[in-house]
Amino acid sequence: MTPKILIAGAGLGGLSAALALRQIGCEVAVYEAASTLGEVGAGIQLSPNAMHVLRHLGLEDQIVQAGYAPQFAAMRHWSTGKTLFSSPLNPVCVSRYGAPYVHIHRADAHQILTQAAQAAGVQITTGAPVTGYNQTSEAIALKVKGGSVEGDLLIGADGIKSRIRDQMLGPQKARFTGQVAWRALVPATSVPRDLLAPGVTVWVGPDRHVVMYYVRGGNLINLVAVEERSDWTQEGWSHQGDPADLQDRFAGWHPDVAQVLDACETVHLWALFDRPSLPHWHQGRAVLLGDACHPTLPFMAQGACLAIEDAGVLANSIHSASDLTAALSQYETRRKPRATALQTRARDNADLFHLRMSALTKAKLSVGRLLPPVMRL
Ligand code: FAD
Repeated sequence: MTPKILIAGAGLGGLSAALALRQIGCEVAVYEAASTLGEVGAGIQLSPNAMHVLRHLGLEDQIVQAGYAPQFAAMRHWSTGKTLFSSPLNPVCVSRYGAPYVHIHRADAHQILTQAAQAAGVQITTGAPVTGYNQTSEAIALKVKGGSVEGDLLIGADGIKSRIRDQMLGPQKARFTGQVAWRALVPATSVPRDLLAPGVTVWVGPDRHVVMYYVRGGNLINLVAVEERSDWTQEGWSHQGDPADLQDRFAGWHPDVAQVLDACETVHLWALFDRPSLPHWHQGRAVLLGDACHPTLPFMAQGACLAIEDAGVLANSIHSASDLTAALSQYETRRKPRATALQTRARDNADLFHLRMSALTKAKLSVGRLLPPVMRL
């Protein structure tokens, strides 16, 4: 019998899982709350660990072609511009970790995954918010707007505010971290040519930092500016901000940063939330994936990479285990220690990026602070 898998959420994690499970012969149906498929206008870094999974899904070439291959990751001082640390990424990642490091527009990555999933026969329903589930030992029914659908397994890939997580573990509000991220995409032509070096640069400063890198083959600059503040009163987690406000908050920063900030015409403010590690990720025929079970602050650029890793490991566990219960236990055992370690590490990086480390010396810095400890799965 072909197992029928229901997935709540068509983010990068849910779509990766859908495609991976379809490729091992499952029938897959995805239910997405948003009325249209898509992603926010921002960039994302995909490190070799995620690229290995995307290669297995047959998408590596498309992702590389749509993206940008950074040559290095560097950390620079907010006012002097001094390079505190730099480490090569491409082509070193290919020889060292077996896959490239890619910067890509999130909408492009999402579109590539969506098209591949649909071409493989995954059924995606939009405008379909899920509210919970009922299960027996024989099947699971997902409650979707206006009714319910039945399957053999439910994957909650519905992000940090997951309704599936709420039901499995009890409702618990995510915690505001006291940090907000300003996000913008700037045409590369709007700043002097070669202002931005061909890598990812983290500009570190007191209580704030800025990350800049190219996407879309170098045609756009992705900017993320994070600051600590306690005054987040917005109902939503993301809203449009004022570029002048952003420029004021980073006044006095190095001219290379200031010129990109000055070129921002549209900015969004994104409050950063997280959760403590969960006691378990599965219950009966329901299992969690991605931000639904391990929301990860962006200070290691690993949240989506981990969600993509989860998808690969979950499909592999379902394919190889003797039954569903064994598969879900195997998945959690293989994933939880790594995801929890990276959640913690990303959280700790705020101290490094905001100059709270007692000895911020070049000797103490290593690529391991910025990138995951094991870049090969
Ligand atoms: P999501 O992307 O949140 O997707 C969940 C999906 O479920 C959404 O489509 C949502 O609409 C849908 N949904 C929600 N509720 C329901 C419901 N009730 N019913 C049906 N559908 C529902 N990660 C990286 O790897 N690299 C980076 O460079 C990086 N940069 C980042 C920069 C910033 C500023 C931020 C904030 C995050 C960054 N991340 C990065 C983290 C990354 O964005 C997340 O970890 C990743 O998007 C999680 O993917 P997901 O599929 O688990 O969840």
